Amino acid sequence: MFIQPKSIDGLKDALKILKENNIPISVIGRGSNLLIPDEGIRGAVIQFGKGLDHLEVDGDQIKVGGGYPLVRLAAIISRDELSGFEFAGGIPGSVGGAVYMNAGAHGSDISKVLVKAHILFEDGTTEWLSNEEMKFNYRKSVLQDERKGFCIEAIFQLEKGHKEDILAELKKHKDYRRETQPWDYPCAGSIFRNPLPNHAGKLVEDLGLKGFQIGGAKISEMHGNYC
Ligand SMILES: Cc1cc2nc3c(=O)[nH]c(=O)nc-3n(C[C@H](O)[C@H](O)[C@H](O)COP(=O)(O)OP(=O)(O)OC[C@H]3O[C@@H](n4cnc5c(N)ncnc54)[C@H](O)[C@@H]3O)c2cc1C
Repeated sequence: MFIQPKSIDGLKDALKILKENNIPISVIGRGSNLLIPDEGIRGAVIQFGKGLDHLEVDGDQIKVGGGYPLVRLAAIISRDELSGFEFAGGIPGSVGGAVYMNAGAHGSDISKVLVKAHILFEDGTTEWLSNEEMKFNYRKSVLQDERKGFCIEAIFQLEKGHKEDILAELKKHKDYRRETQPWDYPCAGSIFRNPLPNHAGKLVEDLGLKGFQIGGAKISEMHGNYC
C-alpha cells in the first residue's frame, strides 16, 4: 500500500486505520537515503510530500511541513534574505527526513537551526519536541530509536542575511556537489556514517570497492560512500 496523505488530519486517519488493522507502517520522505530491496516493502508506505508541505515565514523564523523539499526550502528562503540554511542547498531530501537524520553538510546541520519539531507518534498523539529533546548528534536524532515518531512540521530560527551572499553560498555548494557526487543516476545517498576522523568513502575506495555491484545496486564510481 502506498499512501500520500493530503493533510496532517488525513495522515492521522490513515495511521489510525493501519494500527487498527495491524498493518506495518514505513514512512518515507523523498527516498534520497533509501535502498529498497527487490521484494519491496510489505505493509503500508506513507510518503510525506504534497499536502504536508506548508510553509509560513514569520520574521526570521519559518514553520515548514515535513514533506517540504529541502533544496526548494534553501532556495526559497534566500528570496526573503534569510540565512542559516545554505548548508542544505544540495541535500535532496524532505524537511522531515532531514530532521530525522539531522542532515548536514559544510560544517552545519539541522540541529544548528531547529527550534522545535512537531512529532506524530504511532499511537496518534502529537508533541512539539524542543531542539534539546530531539537529542541531535552526528546524523542522529531521538526519532531513530528512543522516541520513534514522524516529523510533521518543524520551526527553524534563521537570521537576516544578504541575498547575494546567500545565493553565492548556495551556488558554491551546488557546484561542489556536481563535481564530487553522482547526480546522473538514481542515488541512495551516503551508505555509512563517517567513522571520524576517517571518511567512509575513502575507506571503501581503499578496499577497491568503487563500482562494486550486486544486482541493481552499485557503489558509485565517483564517490565510495554513495550507492
Ligand atoms: C546525491 C545525494 C547527496 C546527499 N547529500 C547529503 C548530505 O550532504 N548530508 C546529509 O545529511 N544527507 C545527504 N544525503 C542523504 C539524504 O538526502 C538525507 O539524509 C535526507 O535528509 C533524507 O531525507 P528523505 O526525505 O529523502 O528521507 P528518506 O530517504 O525518504 O528516508 C530516510 C529515513 O528518514 C525517515 N523519514 C523520512 N521522512 C520522515 C519524517 N517525516 N519523519 C520521521 N522519519 C522520516 C525514513 O523512515 C527513513 O528511515 C544525500 C543523498 C543524495 C542522494
